Amino acid sequence: MTDDPLEAKMVNLGVVGAGTMGAGVADLAARSGHTVVLVDVDADALTRAVASIRKECRMSRLLTGVAVDADQVLGRITVADDLAALKASDLVVENVPERWPLKLQVYEALDRLCAPDTVFVANTSAFPITRIGAATSRPDRVIGVHFMNPAPLKSAAELIPGRRTSAETVAQVRAFLDSLGTRGIDVRDACGFVSNRVLMLTVNEAAFVVHDGVADAETVDDVFRSCFGHPMGPLETADLIGLDTVLYSLEVLLEHFGDPKFRPCPLLRALTDAGYHGRKTGQGFHRYDSQGHVHRAGGAPGGETA
Ligand code: NAD
Repeated sequence: MTDDPLEAKMVNLGVVGAGTMGAGVADLAARSGHTVVLVDVDADALTRAVASIRKECRMSRLLTGVAVDADQVLGRITVADDLAALKASDLVVENVPERWPLKLQVYEALDRLCAPDTVFVANTSAFPITRIGAATSRPDRVIGVHFMNPAPLKSAAELIPGRRTSAETVAQVRAFLDSLGTRGIDVRDACGFVSNRVLMLTVNEAAFVVHDGVADAETVDDVFRSCFGHPMGPLETADLIGLDTVLYSLEVLLEHFGDPKFRPCPLLRALTDAGYHGRKTGQGFHRYDSQGHVHRAGGAPGGETA
């Protein structure tokens, strides 16, 4: 970070993982004036991220009433396929899939590459932040921010210090969130935090309802939209999150708590295995066209007719 008070809030941000969340966090940060280096091992993911940021910026006036200049936003984002590009980052937000070996590998590499005072922000769905911090030589500089999807449209995120996170890191990251217009909601470090400890059970049970033949996916979502006034049903929410991410998060919760209530629904596993990961692949419990419009269909999810 800089000593110039006028630029005090500007950060050289590193974003690892350019999927659903990484693209959203890079977009949000660049809209807020930060310079961003966005890294992914998959070149196609980087291409998709740039296209999606351009589209989201163009849609901004329609969705929020605020016009966003896509060229200006993308002008602040550099893409790279090597973590070494994050060497000069003040703060790195990590968004790689919810698999421990992957997270471990990334944090060990970042720890070697980045300056000792670089802050690592874990945008994890469920892993305890203390566990992530312990994988580095700087647990005091590691913190969790559970951003919501899509990040540029959400006003708040869970802010989760691990057991060894310093007060200075908490203050620094809270100031960063303020600069994004994102309110940090303080939550203690526990697997799944508040949001996913509750949401993943709901989504999983909704999948079981379909799996057991009680109702099809559209009917389940209709009940939540029409009877409870929710803007989205639990299975549309699962499609938005990514069914792979939901499955991995349930596996983390199951392993951590050892409580069978977190056992993933077999249908969730089957859809993930089939590559039906939700919105990001165009198909999950529902189908999505190239514009992202949902086509809700009854019958078996994943497109087969049962
Ligand atoms: P995603 O599958 O959409 O994207 C993950 C990206 O990480 C992929 O593009 C992949 O190529 C990349 N990647 C894998 N290994 C890498 C490495 N070693 N270095 C750099 N990039 C690598 O997943 P996502 O939904 O964006 O989730 C990312 C993280 O954010 C997960 O921990 C997830 O639990 C969490 N999260 C997800 C949501 C959500 O709604 N999807 C919300 C909050 C937090």
